[in-house]
Amino acid sequence: MESIYTPMPKHRTEDFDCSIIMVAVTRAQTRTKCYEIAMNTPVRTAVRIWNTRTLLQYAESCMLKPDIGTAVIELEVAFSENTPFSLLTLRKCLQLMPNINDLILRLPSCSPRVTLSGLRFPSLQLVESNLLHRVMVPFIEQHPTINYLLLGPCEGGRRCPLHATSLDNVTDLRLPLGCLSDLANPSISRLHAFLTDQILSSSTILRTLRSYSSLYSLTVEFRNDDYDILCGISGLAPTLRKLRLLVQPSFQRRERQSRRAWNNTVIWARDLRRLQRLEELLIQVDNALVNNPRAEDEEEMLIYKWLSGRSCPTDDWTGSHIHPTLYHIGIWYYEVSYVSSIVSDWWKDVPRWCRRYQYEGQMSQDQFI
Ligand SMILES: [Zn+2]
Repeated sequence: MESIYTPMPKHRTEDFDCSIIMVAVTRAQTRTKCYEIAMNTPVRTAVRIWNTRTLLQYAESCMLKPDIGTAVIELEVAFSENTPFSLLTLRKCLQLMPNINDLILRLPSCSPRVTLSGLRFPSLQLVESNLLHRVMVPFIEQHPTINYLLLGPCEGGRRCPLHATSLDNVTDLRLPLGCLSDLANPSISRLHAFLTDQILSSSTILRTLRSYSSLYSLTVEFRNDDYDILCGISGLAPTLRKLRLLVQPSFQRRERQSRRAWNNTVIWARDLRRLQRLEELLIQVDNALVNNPRAEDEEEMLIYKWLSGRSCPTDDWTGSHIHPTLYHIGIWYYEVSYVSSIVSDWWKDVPRWCRRYQYEGQMSQDQFI
């Protein structure tokens, strides 16, 4: 069994050595201190460890008072990129917390392949980690109970290491868009696909995927010159209910504000209508959306155009020209590119739509859908 303790030296009276006694006394004091810390550490179900000192204290406390470890249901270990940490201590800590349901691990990118080797959590449901996919694959395969899988970047290469891994029980998945091509999981109901530097067009990748017939909620990042993004989504998930679109800068040097998919309201409305069950849409864009940011009448006109496809707004918000199922649209735009953000929340309020909320400043994407 691995030990995080330095073994105590065995002394013989004839081997009198002052330095050994000093070391022994110091270690005895350290042990006493550790015992005191362990006895005073409360038994908690949710634990967050954010530095190596806390990690060591928790590992020692779990060894001296096992209830501390067995009580933990949710564990988050979050170290910054340059934090040197003891893998042995981390693994010991994890071994002493066998009842974890939710495990969040944010570790330096150089963490070795064996970081999670051999660890078992019979009740594990949620895993969020920035560890490379090849590090995660054996761990995922040994935990078929995982429903929520939130992964970080892939190491690249021709195929994602997850390509041969069964994700049949995973319902909520977050991973790089490029890895989707190698996966087969029609049972996913919530998907968050994020961009990486290698990907120019989200819609191109989405069009190559098999249909996700059970997909309920999709969050996808796309470049601001990806004009076919809604077409790509409607082919992937025609029965989608919730959609979050998050724009990222394109690689084109000369960006023109007018060249954005959502600015062509006729095409945008047509493509939105392909999502015949869509209920909620949040779109974060990188331009001003309206001439006078925050102006309610201008935003209302824009919402009408998106819902109807008509370039000349009328007062008819209920006819067949209006998207049949959408009832909530959140628009998140910038007064000045990526500086001052404005979020407006529009809801169907028969017989028309109304703006219920408006926020300023940095927003959480989770506020919406
Ligand atoms: Zn991957």
